[in-house]
Amino acid sequence: MNQLKVLAETDGLTSLLNRRALDRIVERLGEENTPEDDHIALILMDIDHFKSINDNYGHPAGDRVLAQAAELLRGSVRTTDIVARFGGEEFAVLLPAGDLSVAISVARKVRIALQEHSFVTPAGEALKVTASFGVARGRRGPEEWHRLLAQADAALYQAKADGRNRVRFGLHSLGHITSATELEAIPTAAA
Ligand code: GH3
Ligand code: MG
Ligand code: MG
Repeated sequence: MNQLKVLAETDGLTSLLNRRALDRIVERLGEENTPEDDHIALILMDIDHFKSINDNYGHPAGDRVLAQAAELLRGSVRTTDIVARFGGEEFAVLLPAGDLSVAISVARKVRIALQEHSFVTPAGEALKVTASFGVARGRRGPEEWHRLLAQADAALYQAKADGRNRVRFGLHSLGHITSATELEAIPTAAA
């Protein structure tokens, strides 16, 4: 990839892909001919009460939390999963062939890793951070992508409404489950 393109598709603060890059990847995935698995899963993660971190510790502390959270997120997923900074304090993980139960358990793993992590502000103060997660699964393709995003976003909203530091998934995603084993795995993944 040429350097300008890398810059245009990379987030400067976290070095993650940006939303535009993720949209392009989804577009490309939709064009691929993969009849054996035409589903993708999406995790949206939004840091809880992030505004108060900026307000209480300053914007540079907020920036540092974002960079460290991005690192943690990258370290918690497989190399085949695609991690992006979606905007502000919101991140996305795309699992190109992920089951819903797998995506839920990945989100849960990240949720706990974040909860356990001790952040340190530039002034040396310790800081605890949590995030809320919305998970969805659907078919590949540009139109499906918008539906998938809306579902993950609604699930994220539900996680916030239920008290934050939680994982929720879109009920429509259950319609994309094809095996009883996966359906059985969901309660365990979300625990
Ligand atoms: P909620 O738990 O509902 O998600 O609350 P929140 O405070 O996390 O959400 P809200 O949308 O109210 O605030 C997000 C804040 O994130 C506001 C904005 O100033 C801050 N923000 C967005 N991008 C950056 C950034 O790059 N650096 C820093 N330090 N702050 C940022
Ligand atoms: Mg937000
Ligand atoms: Mg937030």
